[in-house]
Amino acid sequence: MTDSRRAIPRTDAVLADERMAGPVLRLGRETVKGAVRQAQDQARRGDIAPEDVVAAALAALPRAATSLRPVLNATGVVLHTNLGRAVLSTAAVEALATAAGSTDVELDLATGRRARRGRGALEALAAAVPAAGGVHVVNNGAAALVLAATALAAGREIVVSRGELVEIGDGFRLPDLLESTGARLREVGTTNRTSLDDYAAAVGPQTGMVLKVHPSNFVVTGFTSSVPVAGLATLGVPVVVDIGSGLLAPDPLLPDEPDAATALGAGAALVTASGDKLLGGPQAGLLLGEAGVVERLRRHPLARALRVDKLTLAALEATLRGPATPTWEALRVPADALRSRSAHVVARLQEAGVPAEVVESAAVVGGGGAPGVEIGSYAVALPAAYAAPLRLGEPSVVGRVERGALLLDLRCVPADRDDDVVGAVLDVGTVGQEPSCT
Ligand SMILES: *Cc1c(COP(=O)(O)O)cnc(C)c1O
Repeated sequence: MTDSRRAIPRTDAVLADERMAGPVLRLGRETVKGAVRQAQDQARRGDIAPEDVVAAALAALPRAATSLRPVLNATGVVLHTNLGRAVLSTAAVEALATAAGSTDVELDLATGRRARRGRGALEALAAAVPAAGGVHVVNNGAAALVLAATALAAGREIVVSRGELVEIGDGFRLPDLLESTGARLREVGTTNRTSLDDYAAAVGPQTGMVLKVHPSNFVVTGFTSSVPVAGLATLGVPVVVDIGSGLLAPDPLLPDEPDAATALGAGAALVTASGDKLLGGPQAGLLLGEAGVVERLRRHPLARALRVDKLTLAALEATLRGPATPTWEALRVPADALRSRSAHVVARLQEAGVPAEVVESAAVVGGGGAPGVEIGSYAVALPAAYAAPLRLGEPSVVGRVERGALLLDLRCVPADRDDDVVGAVLDVGTVGQEPSCT
């Protein structure tokens, strides 16, 4: 062994260094040990000096105990599934921190007895949709559908229009999900047209439920017809409506988007929806409907397997009771405000020699909401070569490449983060050529 090798500090000595105390607390001893071993190896190879082992280990440590990295969403897609859909409000984030410790999620502090789990979130949901006689929450929209299909139609038939047997994304096909519950699909109508008579001819003693699904990621135009909920409600069997997006009441900004209150008012026995789409909350599956139907679902053994955790309940309640969500703030930012923010960003980038310009952009709701609806927006256009280094930068900025240019649409970037966007681009420096989308 050479002298320099012998001088390599031992693992316990490195871990005992006072600079390591914070990281050990924050990241755990094993993670820090891994970085120390790497640094010792570097020293053994002669890549670093033995006295630099602590510094090298510190530099190699992960920035946090989670490998998930925060991302600035400059895609112009408000609910981007690959970026985790809805951004939680600060009220919901605070609620998460509160619920992270021991909490009275299932205990009545007044009596000391067991209480209904998540009652605060359930009360908030019921208050938001007075037309619902009962409410229940499960893990996601798919779980809500599975619970409804299992409790109402396992071993029986689900009558559903051929035009509504949709694929939601990433290979998630509704018909496969529904059949996995042991229910049989009774398809009626055609891809573009289904009438009330089609449903009426299929409904019989075998019918467990009629299902209406919002085709949330595509639009069929031309010679089309479908049956409104009020029509289906005359068939004499429970009508389940999967509205997808989680819009609880009509909103003039998205006039064609179905909502829970309207579906229930029209006679739906049950509405299912996601918590992390237009509701702007955590991933969750919302079930709203007739008290008896919801109770049947709640008492089904499967309900226990689809139960949400305290964190979801906390964030959901805060979303329902709290201030406007980032989702709706992003949807409502006026295009003019985005144009001037983009112009400011561009001016600062041009000053530094970065070939940037302001362009018009079309933002979308995304994540299974408002298909075909484009929201007028503005973006900072950069050469496409910026895309990869910006994704990997600090902070990570994800835009979208369109017509050979990288567009950074500021609609979903909080206004107080524009400086971070500028900083991230400047960190990349100047790459590629002129933007080519003018
Ligand atoms: C998104 C969506 C689902 C699935 O909901 P998840 O919360 O992603 O499980 C089901 N149906 C419709 C119509 C949807 O838009």
